[in-house]
Amino acid sequence: MQRDVLIVGFGLAGWALTNALKKQGISFVVFDGQKMSSSRVATGIYNPVVLKRFRAIWHANEIMEHSIPVYAQSEFSDTFHPMPIHRVLTSVSEQNDWAVATDKADIDHYLNPNILTNSNSNIHTPFGVGVVDHTGWVDTNRLLTKSQKELEQQHSFIGEVFDYEALDISANVLCYKKWKINHVVFAEGVGIKKNPWFSTLPIIPNKGEWLIVSCKGLNLKTILKSNVFVVPLGNDMYRVGATYAREFENIFPTDERKAWLITQFKKLTAFPFDVIDHGAGFRPTVPDRKPLIGKHPIRKNLWCINGLGSRGVLWAPYLATKLVAALNNAQKISSTLNLTRFW
Ligand SMILES: Cc1cc2nc3c(=O)[nH]c(=O)nc-3n(C[C@H](O)[C@H](O)[C@H](O)COP(=O)(O)OP(=O)(O)OC[C@H]3O[C@@H](n4cnc5c(N)ncnc54)[C@H](O)[C@@H]3O)c2cc1C
Repeated sequence: MQRDVLIVGFGLAGWALTNALKKQGISFVVFDGQKMSSSRVATGIYNPVVLKRFRAIWHANEIMEHSIPVYAQSEFSDTFHPMPIHRVLTSVSEQNDWAVATDKADIDHYLNPNILTNSNSNIHTPFGVGVVDHTGWVDTNRLLTKSQKELEQQHSFIGEVFDYEALDISANVLCYKKWKINHVVFAEGVGIKKNPWFSTLPIIPNKGEWLIVSCKGLNLKTILKSNVFVVPLGNDMYRVGATYAREFENIFPTDERKAWLITQFKKLTAFPFDVIDHGAGFRPTVPDRKPLIGKHPIRKNLWCINGLGSRGVLWAPYLATKLVAALNNAQKISSTLNLTRFW
């Protein structure tokens, strides 16, 4: 059993790697134990503007231009839902901030200068909403489920936890059980903490909780952003979230955060609603808010892609292409993204 690359982890990072490797004709096999996956519970919004501060993310246009077509042109493009975000403005001062922001060269492409004062009468927005264009959401759980099925049919997906001790890295060609491989890429999200080669990287889990609510008659056709995002899922169902917490006791959803999410939703509409589901997950974040990609400084055939934070949808395809180019010796990884900055 020979493959060029063994990927550990099939969240958005692992999924994007499989895409990038396929494009280059590089063979691979994926291992995923599916214990804890951020990508399976993500809201899936893509948006290159920080809507709290009205500024663009690092290399916004380049990342958008690279990553969004990967979802739009994927064979599972029915999981891709482009739609504007309506940012709820909460005061005259925020209306002014919006007007100033729509003039900024790096984000004017995304922020519409016209403030909508009555976009949906079912939503309480006395100061109107600012419209963010070229945004939307990806149903990441469905995308991964469909892609995994396809990889299983091609005998390229193994539903097992990767056993680090079974990896023999003593020779140029690595051995893992019956597999002979040239490279291993770890795409483990917060699971990296158990990795013997990369556990010292500063991946900080940030817990996020979310709700699915059923709200008949709300008739929301765009993503709404106030203190929380509200994403229309169809059939009067909406996803509300998510929360952010660097301190937490365990992986389970809490009553406290559920109550907070309900309060935020109630601020937006007087319509009655039912909570259908409530869940939690961990974002893999990095102190300098940039992802970590690259190879191990000593073990040359071991690679890592992690730290996608709260923008995994945007980062994953962009980073996967960078990592595969480096693996092919075609391009160096920039110092901003290279994991060696923390070594
Ligand atoms: C509540 C919530 C909402 C979010 N909303 C958004 C959003 O709207 N937009 C956005 O862009 N991002 C969002 N994110 C962030 C996004 O989910 C992450 O950035 C992204 O999913 C991280 O992907 P990943 O592949 O690095 O990690 P993960 O998705 O966690 O995947 C890692 C995988 O590795 C596997 N694994 C780990 N160790 C092993 C091992 N030893 N053997 C085998 N398998 C292993 C795990 O089972 C898992 O499947 C959200 C996150 C949360 C928690």
